[in-house]
Amino acid sequence: MRIANLNGRLAVTAPGGAIDIAEASAGTFGPDPQGVYDVWPDFVEWARDGLADCRPVPYHSAQLRAPVPRPRQVFGIGLNYREHADESSMDVPAEPTVFTKFPTAITGPSAVIDLPASTVDWEAELVVVIGRVAHRIQAADAWSHVAGVTVGQDLSERTRQLLPPVPQFSLGKSFPGFAPLGPEVVTVDELPNRDDLELGCAVNGEIVQRGRTKDMIFDVPTLVERLSAIVPLQPGDVIFTGTPSGVGHARNPRRYLTPGDVLSTWVEGVGQLSNVFADGSGTRNAPSSASESNGR
Ligand code: ZN
Repeated sequence: MRIANLNGRLAVTAPGGAIDIAEASAGTFGPDPQGVYDVWPDFVEWARDGLADCRPVPYHSAQLRAPVPRPRQVFGIGLNYREHADESSMDVPAEPTVFTKFPTAITGPSAVIDLPASTVDWEAELVVVIGRVAHRIQAADAWSHVAGVTVGQDLSERTRQLLPPVPQFSLGKSFPGFAPLGPEVVTVDELPNRDDLELGCAVNGEIVQRGRTKDMIFDVPTLVERLSAIVPLQPGDVIFTGTPSGVGHARNPRRYLTPGDVLSTWVEGVGQLSNVFADGSGTRNAPSSASESNGR
């Protein structure tokens, strides 16, 4: 199942279009896309039969917003791929490096994002969405607490992030629009292999990152175990699981995003973000383009 936020309403997408869940369920679920995660097991149960007779309605990809618009908690994991730890001149960590992205940084899969400075960098990531309260969960039980996965960019203003005397990861990664998510939350039964997915990103069509999630130092079940050992994970919380090598800050010479750049970010079997960068203040949604339709 593919969960979407279509103009602020909970939808499930299917070949040919999208199904509005509040209409299909006569108001039992939706229309708020965030609310579905609070009742995730009930929703999955209903969807088994409830979607059977629904006819998908065509939509435009520019109508898609962040499928998890207001998580209570947003976790980020640093240095979770060996080659990225190497390029950052850091030892492979023995414990996950954890920070937060504040939820106001979340934006949609085709949003235009303002650059607040000249040292903003890309980080393509698999993002996990929690579907059941997870507290002190063992790795073996972790996937059953996950609603699905989506594509994310952990955009990072490197100057702010690394400002001495103590690095400011959470602030440097939380400017408005610095957490684009989407285009859909995909349940793991839809994936070719939930533990081994290709992911990457391209700037203006040039591929700058390409990796596989099997190369994570701490895999998804281990991250859920380690985080939930301390923090009760709530339905609709999201975990940015770390980025592979190829970030701009580690290049020689260093390379950062500039106004007008188009950043495409994908995870195999999950989907693709396409974000454009602008100079100025405030975040807007990308204007519709008549050439793409249907969002798939
Ligand atoms: Zn990251």
